[in-house]
Amino acid sequence: MTRSAAFSGKILVTAGPTVEPLDPVRFISNHSTGTMGYEIAAACARNGFDVCLVSGPVGLEAPAGVKMVNVLTAREMRRAVVKHLNGCGCIVMAAAVCDFSPAKKNRSKIKKRETLTLKLRKTPDILAEIRSRRDIAKVGFALETHDALRNARAKLRAKKLDLIIVNTLDAKSNPFGGGIKKYRILDKDGIIRDFGRITKKRMASIIAREVKKLLR
Ligand code: C5P
Repeated sequence: MTRSAAFSGKILVTAGPTVEPLDPVRFISNHSTGTMGYEIAAACARNGFDVCLVSGPVGLEAPAGVKMVNVLTAREMRRAVVKHLNGCGCIVMAAAVCDFSPAKKNRSKIKKRETLTLKLRKTPDILAEIRSRRDIAKVGFALETHDALRNARAKLRAKKLDLIIVNTLDAKSNPFGGGIKKYRILDKDGIIRDFGRITKKRMASIIAREVKKLLR
């Protein structure tokens, strides 16, 4: 099946962190605020796409005209992605999915103690699991503290992505929340585009344009 045959104008965007419960009151998570994924969903909706936004817990308002699916854990996000991916021409996986989840969720609150050793298990890699879906264009994100481009290239290949957006995390640029950020886009032909320092809103419009191109 070619992409244009599959393209229905429907796309799936994921956003925000996942939270992985440890006991009824605690969880492990990350600093994602969901801003980028919400901006992408809004930009895609403005561009006429039928957008489903699968979101981890964030304090943001649903973008206008977007179908919302709220989840908590990586497993829930996987279930929601699988459920809503049918008929989509593209997935933009902007969520900061936790890579690890506590192996065991305690039913009662873990009591305070001097030290606590946690056993963590790898969560499902949602993008990697759908890498054989050649009818869907796949866009991922990479956030690394070292060797950003080399690691992003490896992820793009391993997860068979069409594009990967490389966040910069250094002393001058923190990718979390609002403000001005630094982005590069790497495609599967090895081309790197550097967008310098721009807002998430602006970057989201660029990503929406790229999604359009992928689906052409
Ligand atoms: O965590 P990692 O650097 O591998 O993330 C790269 C891409 O894979 C991101 O787009 C992220 O949303 C996605 N991912 C995923 N499932 C995971 C971890 C990451 O789909 N468990």
